[in-house]
Amino acid sequence: MSRMPTDLFEAVIHNFGIEVRCICGHAVVFAANGLWWSFYVKRWPYRFSEARRRFCCTRCARSFGQRVRPDYLDATSLTPTIILPMPDEREWKRMIQSMRG
Ligand SMILES: [Zn+2]
Repeated sequence: MSRMPTDLFEAVIHNFGIEVRCICGHAVVFAANGLWWSFYVKRWPYRFSEARRRFCCTRCARSFGQRVRPDYLDATSLTPTIILPMPDEREWKRMIQSMRG
């Protein structure tokens, strides 16, 4: 691995997870493929710097009733703790092919 991914799709291709951390200390690791897919469906930007703004900390929401954006989002080799639904296998392969090409 010569360089770290800078967006969700690169993380999928290179098999990284996505770590998201809040200043309160709450941290989660998403499996990149399902997370990328949910961004794809919503037409949200993949770049980490922009993707970060789409999250809000569930712990802060519960504790303070406030929407707090995480202050950290980056690729990680940690094991995912959150695995979002993915498209079915055939659709997924077709997607990866078209995105690569
Ligand atoms: Zn928080």
